[in-house]
Amino acid sequence: MTSDRSNLYPDYADLSVQQVGRVLRISHNRPAQRNAESTRLLDELDDALRIAKQDESVGCVIISGEGDHFSAGHDLKEAIADRGHYSVEQRWAYEEQRYFGYAMNIWDFPKPTIAEVRGACMGGAFMVANMCDIVLASEDAFFSDPVVLSLAAASVEVLVHPYVMGLRRAKEFLFTGERLSAQEGYRIGMINKVLPGEELRPAAMAMAEKMAAAPPFAVAVTKRSLNRTADLLGFRTALSAHFETHQITHVTQETKEIRARGADSLIRRGSAAAKSEAAESASQPVA
Ligand code: ZN
Repeated sequence: MTSDRSNLYPDYADLSVQQVGRVLRISHNRPAQRNAESTRLLDELDDALRIAKQDESVGCVIISGEGDHFSAGHDLKEAIADRGHYSVEQRWAYEEQRYFGYAMNIWDFPKPTIAEVRGACMGGAFMVANMCDIVLASEDAFFSDPVVLSLAAASVEVLVHPYVMGLRRAKEFLFTGERLSAQEGYRIGMINKVLPGEELRPAAMAMAEKMAAAPPFAVAVTKRSLNRTADLLGFRTALSAHFETHQITHVTQETKEIRARGADSLIRRGSAAAKSEAAESASQPVA
C-alpha cells in the first residue's frame, strides 16, 4: 500500500492495494497459490471495492494479480476442507454472497474497472475479470472455465460467457473445457488489448489514468446505460437463473461420482494446469 490515503484500507492478508493519483490498483496477492481466490481474498476484494466506491479520490480501479498469474480461480483446497460437507442451503448462501453477489458488485461498481490479466485466468477468476468493463491481457495470458468437464458443474456461478464471447464461442469454450489464448480472446472481442508482458502494467495504468480524468458523473451514468443495455438483453435475469441451475449441479449423481474419484487428484490437475503453460487444456476445478 503506497498511498497517502492508506488509512482508508485495512491491512489485507490476501490482497494488495495501491493508489497512484486517481487510480486504485487492487491485486490478488497469493502468488504462491497462483492467486487462488480464498474466502478471505474474495471478502477483501469486495471490501476494497466498497471503500473505493465511496472515495471520491478514486476515479478508476484496476484489478490484477501479483506474480505470474491473474488467478487460477476459486481455492478448491479450501472449498473441500471448509465447505465440502455443506448442505444445499449452506452452499447456496455462501455462493450467492461471495461468488454471485460479489461479482455483481464489480459489474455495478460506479466507476470504470480494468482487469489486467497475465498468466492464468480460470474458473472463478474468469468471472471476476469479465465483470470488469475493460480486459487487458499479456501475450501469455490464458482463459479457461473447465468445470463442466472437471467437476460436472454447470460452468461457474456467473455465466457471463455468452455476453463477452458470443453464444457460439461460449458453447465451444464450455463444452470442450478449452484454454483460450489472449490472442483468440482479442479476436472474438472478449479482450480489449493484448500486450507484451512488460507493457501490460504501464498500458493499464495509462488507460486507467485517462478514464479517471473523465467527468466522474458522466462516466458513471454512461456505464449505467451501457450495463442497462445488457440488462435489456436479459443479462441480470439470465445470470440469476443460471446461478440457480448451477446450484443443482453441485449435488448431481455425476458430480458425486467425480468427487468420489478423489478431490486430491482434482486439485493436482488444477495446479498442474495453472503451472504449465504448455498444458493442453487448463483444468482448475471450482467448487
Ligand atoms: Zn458453485
